[in-house]
Amino acid sequence: MLIHNKQIAIVGGGPGGLTLARLLQLKGVTVKVYERDFNKDARVQGSPLDMHEGSGWAALHKANLLDEFNKRVLAGADKKIIVNERAEIFFSDHETKPGENSGSNYSRPEISRGALRRIFLESLQPETVLWNSHFISMEKQNEGWLLHFKNGASVYADIVIGADGANSKIRPYITNTKAFYSGVTMVEINVYDAAKATPHIHALLNGGKVMAFGNGNNILGGQKGNGDLGFYLSLKADENWSANNDLNYSDKTQLLAWFKKEYSEWSSIWYELFENATTPFVPRPIYCMPLDQTWKTLPNVTMLGDAAHVMPPFAGEGANMAMFDALELSECLTSDKYDSLQDAISSYEINMRKRAAIATEESLKNGERMHSQDALEKMLAVFGRNNS
Ligand SMILES: Cc1cc2nc3c(=O)[nH]c(=O)nc-3n(C[C@H](O)[C@H](O)[C@H](O)COP(=O)(O)OP(=O)(O)OC[C@H]3O[C@@H](n4cnc5c(N)ncnc54)[C@H](O)[C@@H]3O)c2cc1C
Repeated sequence: MLIHNKQIAIVGGGPGGLTLARLLQLKGVTVKVYERDFNKDARVQGSPLDMHEGSGWAALHKANLLDEFNKRVLAGADKKIIVNERAEIFFSDHETKPGENSGSNYSRPEISRGALRRIFLESLQPETVLWNSHFISMEKQNEGWLLHFKNGASVYADIVIGADGANSKIRPYITNTKAFYSGVTMVEINVYDAAKATPHIHALLNGGKVMAFGNGNNILGGQKGNGDLGFYLSLKADENWSANNDLNYSDKTQLLAWFKKEYSEWSSIWYELFENATTPFVPRPIYCMPLDQTWKTLPNVTMLGDAAHVMPPFAGEGANMAMFDALELSECLTSDKYDSLQDAISSYEINMRKRAAIATEESLKNGERMHSQDALEKMLAVFGRNNS
């Protein structure tokens, strides 16, 4: 095996990095994960992830972790309704969606990000993840790299894999191509103990998720586990909108006033989100890598997941792609069919870029559709209309 006796450093312990660590360890490879979070209990933010059969689910399968995954699936959380600005339901699959564990393409089981991270952490050999390891820079040493971290530590690795997300610090060692702003900013809203805090919205979701469209604006939301809900107000805005506007993201009164103005046609059922959610709300400008990006493969450093191909989340592919990248990269690095590591990495990168370009195009198209004036009609054309 080309990576026999080599030290592998994975920078970043998100879904992509941890999947890779697990898959390489199953093949007997020596691997360490350097993660900037202070410890394993750091709160993992963000919406739950639905696993797609051909990618995230396939990686879990290969990692021998499907049993653990099935135990922690958020039952029913993948069911959805599509509503208008008055919360009138036009589509619902609550009666028709197959169960989570069916493995069917039409069932996309959801899991919270924290639960997914725990599954991988529990599967790794002790001391695999080095917490509080915020990568800063690296320089060439012998055939590999000397990596430097904010905590003052420096370590040598023969091969470095950047799994450190959208603002990757490894990526600049591979390519100068940068992500562009997609034109959309999402404002994240978290509701704890939703049955009490936002009873009407909680009842509307009925254990599943909601996509609400009206007048070019939308609200997307769903279960986060433990009775919590997570929402995104997703809007077309300038790149610096969230930094340059006068909104105080911790001031609920101001945020509600903003909503009433910007979402003026939306009914009062949504107000409880602003009155009772946790603050601060978190604005997230959404970035995207160019579809035609390419670079010359290096012999001892590569990247996966958002570091390689961050894309808008409107196809639900990002984490799935990151995990599938890990699956393919682990196969290439441990295969006997390549003459050199550079060949193995090149084979992975060529396929990864093709796959990512297709998913990115889909997510950009979906994003356009979801933020158009007639988004409700367009989305019903995709999913069907069964409850008008
Ligand atoms: C609003 C929103 C909704 C989304 N919804 C979905 C969805 O439904 N389905 C889906 O599949 N995807 C979704 N995504 C995309 C998904 O979150 C990402 O694609 C996925 O998390 C990428 O995984 P990753 O492992 O590549 O990177 P990340 O999850 O970003 O993990 C990177 C890790 O690296 C660590 N790190 C960062 N910098 C450093 C450093 N310098 N040194 C050390 N460690 C570092 C971070 O702490 C983190 O743990 C969504 C994204 C957004 C913004």
